[in-house]
Amino acid sequence: MSTTSGGQLPSMNGPVRDYGMLIGGDWVAAEAGETIEVITPIDRNRVIATTPRARAADAERAVKAARTAYGTWSATTPAQRQRALVRIADDLEGMVEELAALTALDTGNAIRTQARPEATLTASAFRYFAGLGAEVKGVTLPGGPESLSYTRRLPLGVVAGILPWNSPLMIAAFKLPAALVSGNTVVLKAAEDAPTTILELAEVCQRHLPPGVLNVVTGYGPEVGDALVVHPDVDKVSFTGSSQVGGDVAAKAGQRLAHVSLELGGKSPTIVFPDSDTDEVVEQVLLATRFARQGQSCTSGSRLFLHDDIHDSFLDKLVARVAKLKVGDPREEESDLGCIINQRQWDRVQGYIEDGLSKDGVEVAYDGRPSLTVGEPGFYHAPMILSQVSNDWRIAREEIFGPVLSVLRWRDEDEVVRMANDSHYGLAAFVFSRDIGAALRTAHQVEAGWVQVNQGGGQQVGQSYGGMKASGQGREFSLEGMLESFTQIQQINVALAD
Ligand code: NAD
Repeated sequence: MSTTSGGQLPSMNGPVRDYGMLIGGDWVAAEAGETIEVITPIDRNRVIATTPRARAADAERAVKAARTAYGTWSATTPAQRQRALVRIADDLEGMVEELAALTALDTGNAIRTQARPEATLTASAFRYFAGLGAEVKGVTLPGGPESLSYTRRLPLGVVAGILPWNSPLMIAAFKLPAALVSGNTVVLKAAEDAPTTILELAEVCQRHLPPGVLNVVTGYGPEVGDALVVHPDVDKVSFTGSSQVGGDVAAKAGQRLAHVSLELGGKSPTIVFPDSDTDEVVEQVLLATRFARQGQSCTSGSRLFLHDDIHDSFLDKLVARVAKLKVGDPREEESDLGCIINQRQWDRVQGYIEDGLSKDGVEVAYDGRPSLTVGEPGFYHAPMILSQVSNDWRIAREEIFGPVLSVLRWRDEDEVVRMANDSHYGLAAFVFSRDIGAALRTAHQVEAGWVQVNQGGGQQVGQSYGGMKASGQGREFSLEGMLESFTQIQQINVALAD
C-alpha cells in the first residue's frame, strides 16, 4: 500500500485522513502495514487521521534515502539551498491559517494565542535560515608567506530530528531549516500524539527539495525513534522531549559516538521584585506561565517567586486576571487555553495537583471555579495556582507540563537566586524589576539558557535556544546554533614553499 500526499486536511467532521510517511520522495505505508490512530484532544472519541506505525525497517529505509540524497544536497551551493528554503517559506506563509487550524486540532493549542503564532513562526524560521546558507564558512589563519591554513565548515551528514507533541511545527522549525541550509539531509520523527502538521510541513518541503533530502517517519519512540538513535548511518541526533528520554537517547547515541543535541524539560523560575507590583507585569507573568499552552511548554515559568512585600497584592491581581481566561475549543478565536494533549498527560497533571494539595500549608489561590464550564469529551483543564509552596515539594521541583503554577515567597536577592538555582533544570527564567541593576544582576546569576527581563513571551527568530543542566545540551535556532548543532570544522594546512 502506498498513501498519497496532498489530501484534504483532517477536520472534526471530515473523513479520517490516512497519511503516509515521506521516504525518498514517496508517500509510503509502514513496511509492516501497521497504523496508529490520531485522536484530537478536543474529543477523546474522535479519530482525525491515521499514520503509519514505523519500526526499525522503516527507519532503515528513511536513513538510506537520506544518505543517498546527501552527496548531491551537500554539494549544492548555498544559493541553491537558499532558493529552496525561501520557496518553502513562501508556501508556508500562504498556509498559515490551515496549519494553525490543524495545529489546534491535533495538539489542542488555542488558535489565537498559540497555534497561529506557531505556524507563523515556522514560516519565518525557514525565511531566516534561508539567508544563513552563506554563513557556513571557515576562517583563514595568519601563517606567514609560506603557509595557508584555513578551515571549512561542513555539514554533519544525516540528521535525525526527534520531535515532541507540544508545539510540533515550532520545534521542527528550530531544527529543520538550519539542518537543511547547512547541507545536511534529515529524517524527522514526528510525535505519535501530534504528527499531522509535520506531515503537512513535509508535503510543502517536498515540492521544493530533491527526493530524500527530507524524510519523515511516524510511530512510537521506543520503536522507530530508538531505531534512528542507534542507526550507524545517522550522524547526528537532535532530540527535543523529556529529560528522561533525552538521557537515554544521549547514552545510546554516545555509545556509537554520534553527535547529539538535547532540548529537554524545565522548571523555570519567574522572579518578581517589590517594585513590579503592576498590571503590566501581571500580564507578562501570565505569558511566562504558558497557561495559554495549557502549561505544556518547556519554558513555562512554573515557579513564581514573589517578594514578601508584594506577595498578596500581586497574587490577587494575577488571580483576577487568570479568572478572566477562557478555556475552550482551541479552534475558537475567543479561547485563551485549549486542551491538554491526552488522558495520560491529564492524569499526570492531576497526580501533581493531588500531591501539592496534600502538603501542609499549601493554599489554593485559584482552581478555575466557578467559571470553568468545559470538560469532556475534550481534555480541558482550568489553570491552577497553588501558593505558600515550598521549593522542595515535587510541584516546585518536577516538570508538571500542565497549567499549574507554584507560588513561593522570597525576601532577599541572594536567597531568591539560590532558590531559583536549586533545581536540576536550567532552561528559562524571567526577572521583573524596574531597577536595571537588580534585574541584570539576577539575570546573570540565574542558571538558565534563556533569561527574559521584564517580559514573558518575547521569543525571536534567530535567538539562541537551549538549556543548561538537565534541560539540555547544545543550542539551536540561531546562527551560532546552526553552526554548533549542524556543522563540523575541517582544518586545512597547506605548505606554499617551493
Ligand atoms: P518524550 O520524551 O516522551 O517524547 C519526545 C519524542 O521522543 C517523541 O517523538 C517520542 O516518540 C520520542 N521518543 C520516546 N521514547 C524514545 C526513545 N526511547 N528513543 C527515541 N525517541 C523516543 O516527550 P514528550 O512527552 O513528547 O514532550 C514533552 C517533553 O518535551 C517535556 O519534558 C518538555 O519540556 C520537552 N520539550 C522540550 C523543549 C525544549 O526545547 N527544551 C521543547 C518542547 C518540549
